[in-house]
Amino acid sequence: MTITVTLLGTGSPIPAPDRAGPSTLISTEGEHFLVDAGRGVLMRMAAVGVGAPQLSAVLLTHLHSDHITDLNDVITTRWVMTFEPTPLTIIGPVGTQHVVDHLLASLGPDIAYRLAHHDDLNHEPMVRVIEVESGEIALPGPTVITAGQTDHKPVEPSIGYRFELGGNSVVVAGDTVPCDSLDALCTGADALVHTVIRKDIIANVPMQRLLDTLDYHSSPQEAGATAQRAGVTTLVLTHYVPAIAPGGEHEWVDLAATEFGGQIEVGDDLHTVTVE
Ligand SMILES: [Zn+2]
Ligand SMILES: [Zn+2]
Repeated sequence: MTITVTLLGTGSPIPAPDRAGPSTLISTEGEHFLVDAGRGVLMRMAAVGVGAPQLSAVLLTHLHSDHITDLNDVITTRWVMTFEPTPLTIIGPVGTQHVVDHLLASLGPDIAYRLAHHDDLNHEPMVRVIEVESGEIALPGPTVITAGQTDHKPVEPSIGYRFELGGNSVVVAGDTVPCDSLDALCTGADALVHTVIRKDIIANVPMQRLLDTLDYHSSPQEAGATAQRAGVTTLVLTHYVPAIAPGGEHEWVDLAATEFGGQIEVGDDLHTVTVE
């Protein structure tokens, strides 16, 4: 059973003209799962022919703004582009319900306008939030999804997700430093999607607010070491801080390869990796 990973957004909180915010699409035969909903996510999904109505679930790794900026867009677009009441399932760490409740409150005027204007629209956006800590998540459909704790303190809790179907498996780690629970979640996975920052570059930038980010992200080397310990086949790097310099992809690959002997993927938005 094929699992396709699409890097929808490979950017970070720093706006970039050609990199959308953090988000990854996991597609199996018949199901699409959106992991995080960063800046521009629905534009990138449109590029691969997937709309908000086709999502089986949205899964949030943590509640940092860059990973959820466009969640409101996913909620609204799902609502106005479906003609039957189709609840959107949003899975995330403890705290997700609170965030979604307030997003819906901020959308209150828009919801009232559309309900007043469209006679055939007779329900508010239907959202079902499932807060998870670790372990298998009970969902309909054949894809088995397991959550595992990551370490992005002081962002707490934060989680990664493992998708399994027909003997194939993909893990999306989100933002994290190496930790035992991430190693366990990744064990034997065919692919690991891991966010990274170039600590060798950022450490030399004399700006404390950037330096602060060093202690709760992984470098390409650390992501590589995690993949190596867990026996992962393919490591997919994303969430590039700073953005990859033109022609500089090999630097990121080379750094990860100092710790990891498998396949390493680095790419632009819409880069895909297929596991089969
Ligand atoms: Zn984060
Ligand atoms: Zn992030």
